Amino acid sequence: MIITPDGFEIAIDLALDDDAIAHVFVRDSLVQFGDSPGALPWRFYREQGLVPQRVHALGRHDGRSHLAVALAEPPAAAGERMRIDLPQGLTAAGLRNWFGVIDDVSLAIAMRAVQVLEWDRTHRFCGACGTPTHQDPNERAKRCPSCGLTVYPRISPAMMVLVTRGRELLLGRGLNFPPGRYSALAGFMEAGETIEDTVHREVHEEVNVRIKNLRYFGSQSWPFPNSLMIAFHAEYDGGDMQANPTELADAQWFTPEDLPSLPPSMSISRALIEARLAELRAS
Ligand SMILES: [Zn+2]
Repeated sequence: MIITPDGFEIAIDLALDDDAIAHVFVRDSLVQFGDSPGALPWRFYREQGLVPQRVHALGRHDGRSHLAVALAEPPAAAGERMRIDLPQGLTAAGLRNWFGVIDDVSLAIAMRAVQVLEWDRTHRFCGACGTPTHQDPNERAKRCPSCGLTVYPRISPAMMVLVTRGRELLLGRGLNFPPGRYSALAGFMEAGETIEDTVHREVHEEVNVRIKNLRYFGSQSWPFPNSLMIAFHAEYDGGDMQANPTELADAQWFTPEDLPSLPPSMSISRALIEARLAELRAS
């Protein structure tokens, strides 16, 4: 599971100097040196002729400054894929493509960087009156000089739950999952809900099941584009399990001996499933 590295401290007053670690993006594609993937000082990118278009300080880790750097985006018509031209040796790809390729510390900080840059890109104008916003120098906020509206980076809480019935695990297939992949159930919060409300409502909507004995497991930032996954264990409490076809391609009860393809190890869904399997082995 990818989490904030120990000792990481948020800071927003850092300069992009040659020694600062740069997390360089074109929109949501992370730029890496093919030969040495992982976070590198800005010097290496600058020497390739890259020009920062937008820069946001992220924080300090291990005595180094970390900054998010957005390069100019190539023009692309609506619905068309961006063609990203970079100097030879550099590659840009979505963060999921770098899972297991770059180290976990670089990846965790890049997962912060992409969210800050995306917030910056999509809040250049006030959502209320359309005036260009100003970056607040003292906190991660944008303010409208005309009407005073303040916007902070948007974080969208979502619940994840592994429902069990004795030794069985209830896993579902999302509509866009890779072939054969199943995972714990997940869904976004509605305004006004507690996270527990969300868990009960989503499980009922997705698989027509009632649950009990919610146990908090943990949370993980998931920047696709700005989720906070809040994960629970729960026990089956009744209902005829049936996948709602508008939400899921399929849902089934699985035994530990007969599991389908599971999510990758950097996800909290996999950690949640592995934790339950460990409990079953121990009991
Ligand atoms: Zn305004």
